[in-house]
Amino acid sequence: MTLLRSGSATDVGRVRQVNQDCVLETGSLFAVADGMGGHAGGEVASRTAIDALARAFQPPAEGLPPAGLLIEAVETANQAVWEQAQADSDLWGMGTTLTTLALVEEEGREELAVANVGDSRAYLLSGGDFTQLTADHSLVEEMVRSGELSAAQAAHHPKRHIITRVIGVEPTVDVDAWLLRPVTGDRILLCSDGLVDEVSDEDIASVLAEVEDPGQAARDLVTLAREHGGRDNITVIVVDVVAGAEGGGAGTTSAAVGPAGPPTSADPGGGSIGPPPSQAANPAAASGGTGVALATATRTPVTSRVQVPSASPTQPRPLRPPQAPPRSSRPVTLRVVGFLVLLAAVIAAVVGAVAWYATGSYYVGLAGRRVAIYQGRPGGFLWFQPHVVDRTSLTTGEVLPSRRPDLRAGMQEPSLAAARRYVANLRQEAASLPQFHPSRTHHKASTTTTSGRS
Ligand code: MN
Repeated sequence: MTLLRSGSATDVGRVRQVNQDCVLETGSLFAVADGMGGHAGGEVASRTAIDALARAFQPPAEGLPPAGLLIEAVETANQAVWEQAQADSDLWGMGTTLTTLALVEEEGREELAVANVGDSRAYLLSGGDFTQLTADHSLVEEMVRSGELSAAQAAHHPKRHIITRVIGVEPTVDVDAWLLRPVTGDRILLCSDGLVDEVSDEDIASVLAEVEDPGQAARDLVTLAREHGGRDNITVIVVDVVAGAEGGGAGTTSAAVGPAGPPTSADPGGGSIGPPPSQAANPAAASGGTGVALATATRTPVTSRVQVPSASPTQPRPLRPPQAPPRSSRPVTLRVVGFLVLLAAVIAAVVGAVAWYATGSYYVGLAGRRVAIYQGRPGGFLWFQPHVVDRTSLTTGEVLPSRRPDLRAGMQEPSLAAARRYVANLRQEAASLPQFHPSRTHHKASTTTTSGRS
C-alpha cells in the first residue's frame, strides 16, 4: 500500500499579467501544465489539457490504473487541446507543456509513473540524491545532448524557452514516460520552468531536503523563484511517498482512497478546475499536506503493454524513454554551399548540353507521304522527341527514288536554312530529270533502285 502526501503552489510571478500555468493535485494524479499562445490561448491550453488528462485517467473499478493509461491520458489531453485550437481561430496555435505523476499498478505492483511533453520537469529527491527524471523537449536541451552546449550554457541560453514538443499543436504527440518504485521517504517535485529558470537545482534540493511539509516546501520554492526575479509563472507540486510499496503489499485492503487536495487552477481570477470525474468521489480536503492512503482491493496481475524490468527497482526506469532528438540543424557551412552550387552548375550544364544536342539540329524526313523538316534528332534523343517545323508540299512520289532511303532515315542538316536548301534541291532534282515523271514514281522506283521499297 502506497501512501502519498502532497502540496502545491502556483504564482503569476512578478512580471507576467496572467498565470498560464495550471496545476492538478488529487490523491493519485498530479500534473503541471505551462500554457503558451496569444490572447487567452495559454490559459485555455493548460486548463484544457489538465481537464482532459484527469477525465481520461479513470481508475478501474478495483485497483489502480496501469501506467499505459497515463500515457493515453496525455495523448487524449493533446487531442483535446488540438481540437479546441482548431475550433476557435483565436486559440489557433495554442499549446501547453504537460508533466504528470500518477500512482499506477504494473504487474501487480504499485508504481509511480511519470509522463512528460515539453519542458516542465519532474525531479526525484531520494536518499539525498536530487535527480531530474524528465528530459526537456527543448531546443537547448537537444543542443546539450548533442554536445553543442554545456548544461551551464543552456541554463541561461536566450533560446531556452523554445520547446520542441508541445501538447496541442499537432493532432498526435510522442509522450515520454518513466516508472518509479515508490520508496518511503522519497520526494517528487513537478514544476514549470518558472521555478528552474530562477532557482538552481542545488537551492531547490536544499529546500526540499529541509522543509518537511510538502505544501510549505512548494510555497517556499515559489517564494524563492519570486525573489530571484519571478519573470515567469511559477508552479510547484511536491509529492511525498509517506509509505512505499516495499514488502510487496499483498492485496489486502479495500480501496480506501483518502482525502485529496482539490485540483487548483493557476488562474487567480477564478475558473478553478473542478475535481475530475475520476476523483469526484474523493472527499476534498485543504490543499497540501494531506495524507492520502491509496490501496488496491485485488492484486490480479494487470496485463499491460508496459514492460517493467525487475532490476534495480528503486531506480527510475524509462517506460517510454525520450526519443532521440532530431538531428540538430547546424548552420550550413560555406563548403556545403559551394558543393551544392557546383553540383547545380554541373547538372545545368549537362541538361543544357543534352537539350542543345537533342534540339539544336534539323533533319529532312517524311511525315506521312509528305517531305517535312524536323527539329531534333531522327528517332529522338533521351526525352526530346523531334517535331515538325515545316511540312512541305513535296510528296514522296515527287522525290527521286534514290533519295528516299535518306528521307526515311532522316537527312540531318546543321540548320533550318540548310534543311530548306535540301528540300529545294529535291524539287530541282526531280524537275531536271525529264525521264522522271512523278505520276509513275512507284513503278520506276521498284525497278531502278535498290531501296527495297516495293
Ligand atoms: Mn513557463
